[in-house]
Amino acid sequence: MTTLDIINVGHPTLREIAAEIPVDEIKSAQIQRLIDDLIDTKRAANGAGIAASQVNVALRLFVVEAGSNPKFPFKPAYPLTVMINPKISFQTAERFENFEGCLSIPGLRGVVHRCPVIRVQGYNRDAEKVDFEIRGVSAGIFQHEDDHLNGVLYTDKLTDTKTLCTVEEFSTRYEKKYKEMVVNVEQAYGPV
Ligand code: ZN
Repeated sequence: MTTLDIINVGHPTLREIAAEIPVDEIKSAQIQRLIDDLIDTKRAANGAGIAASQVNVALRLFVVEAGSNPKFPFKPAYPLTVMINPKISFQTAERFENFEGCLSIPGLRGVVHRCPVIRVQGYNRDAEKVDFEIRGVSAGIFQHEDDHLNGVLYTDKLTDTKTLCTVEEFSTRYEKKYKEMVVNVEQAYGPV
């Protein structure tokens, strides 16, 4: 198992537009190792997702996996998914208020509007084309990670800068309300 150093807000790589990975390089030892290390790093840090930009590699690659995560026990489970060169399209005009954190912005949470139904197209780690829909709160994780590939952090998109809070204040003041919102979003848009 190899965990990589996660860079923090202020590091210029987090503001770069990440480059596409040539499809014929996806199965290279170098990219496959990067994917394995990203998975290990995400799991060790208890993140719901991680983008390559966050380990100082400006390539269009991210990993999502939610569930049995002590940081977000109230988020629905989502299986391990590796996305390469993703393209996300919104499938509804609706938005929900997602309380997000980021491994590159330690200790903070804040509210961002996310689309609850998205279509993701791209490649998996076997260099196969993938095209699928994500419904509910998990769609927010994909949008957060996709933003990283474009040099965008969730703090750029806060619905109101006053929603920014520490993890401790989140737990004390907002977690209960957020859990209720998660249940509502899953009922309205969640997997069918
Ligand atoms: Zn992040």
